[in-house]
Amino acid sequence: MRIAFAIPAALLALALAGCEEPAPPAPPRSMILGLDGCDWRNALPLVRQGKLPTVEALWRAGARGTMLTNPDYRWSPVLWTSIATGKLPQEHGVTSFMAQVEGMDRWIPTPSTERKVRALWNMFTEKDRSVGFVGWWVTWPAEPVKGFMVTDHFSVSRFDLGNDYERERESVFSEQETWPPELGQQIAALKVPRQRIGREDYARFVNLPADWQWPEHFRKFDKASEFAIAHSVDRTHSGAGQRLLRDVEPDLFGVFLQGIDIMQHYYWEYLDPSQAFWSPSDAEVREYGEAIERYYGWIDGVVADLVEAGGDRAVLIVSDHGFRPADDRYEDKHISGEHRRQAVWLFAGPGARRDVIVPETDAVDVTPTILAYHGLPVAHDFDGDPVLDVMTPEWQAAHPVEWIATWETSPLARRELPGSSNARDLEERIRALGYIE
Ligand SMILES: [Zn+2]
Repeated sequence: MRIAFAIPAALLALALAGCEEPAPPAPPRSMILGLDGCDWRNALPLVRQGKLPTVEALWRAGARGTMLTNPDYRWSPVLWTSIATGKLPQEHGVTSFMAQVEGMDRWIPTPSTERKVRALWNMFTEKDRSVGFVGWWVTWPAEPVKGFMVTDHFSVSRFDLGNDYERERESVFSEQETWPPELGQQIAALKVPRQRIGREDYARFVNLPADWQWPEHFRKFDKASEFAIAHSVDRTHSGAGQRLLRDVEPDLFGVFLQGIDIMQHYYWEYLDPSQAFWSPSDAEVREYGEAIERYYGWIDGVVADLVEAGGDRAVLIVSDHGFRPADDRYEDKHISGEHRRQAVWLFAGPGARRDVIVPETDAVDVTPTILAYHGLPVAHDFDGDPVLDVMTPEWQAAHPVEWIATWETSPLARRELPGSSNARDLEERIRALGYIE
């Protein structure tokens, strides 16, 4: 029998008072906070300095470790799909930022229709548990789920190349950007386009000289422009996530936040000039040297807001990869930070073991772990395993792992891919980040 941890005792007593039969225990609840590129190498010193109070509290309350991701696949859409499916790329089918799909005359950002296997949101839906995901990679077009799906195309700036906002809104990528379809209109006001980010927002992260001008137009490889895009995406995802967490209260919630990755790509040289491939001036180090730390601090506040909005539920913080100083490969783009395998993993909340270090885990372990936590079946054909060490013996006893051969016993329900009109802009945007030639 499951324990009714999610319901405060007083409420439970009220609920039971008028009933002859006891109410069934509430199903477990959890949330996955996906922090692209988050690395203990940068986060831990800040925890020790008291600059990440939320992460520190979760750190002390839970189990944590370093997650190693597949060195052959260091790209975010590939890794985030492994995290959400428990499968390696050769199994889940998402192998790049871009895909050539039937019916399109050119490459487009990899759509959800390319994924060959079930993701967490499909598995939960099939077991009548509710889910809600916001901004997760490779979720557009939105799949039908029990709960909600806010796809990676909901944030208008995600793949922006300085296009006109109004024009972008009419693009094909705003079709099927949410499930249910009408949700997109209901939360449209929570979209923060890049154009709404300005000098005042930037000044929270860098020390601007008095005569510094906010760039009027988006510029490729310009660190202020890149900040504006990433920050608008994060503001959109955190705003929509908090609102929907409170309104819908899904059993499993997941959100993707991009900014830590982008800041480490463009501001690493100022954080650690000694290891940078080129030498920033002293003035630049004064102006931009705290940008990465302050962004981690801002994200810590977002984590606090989401944890509060989520109520009594387990919290899993994961990243898809870590970061290191870049080499000359990115010199022409002036990108000074580059991905490395070491990602973060932190699990806290009801049923989580306290103050435990979990030996190295892998991205493909996330899905089996979440399923096991929720008492849902774990499949033998996953490429990862449930990390049961993060859960207390009591929790494990109350939720014994049910093993099945596979979740893939029937075809996956699909939606049609809308026709594409501005896929080329998105391709350019991804090219600008240096991932494709
Ligand atoms: Zn990156």
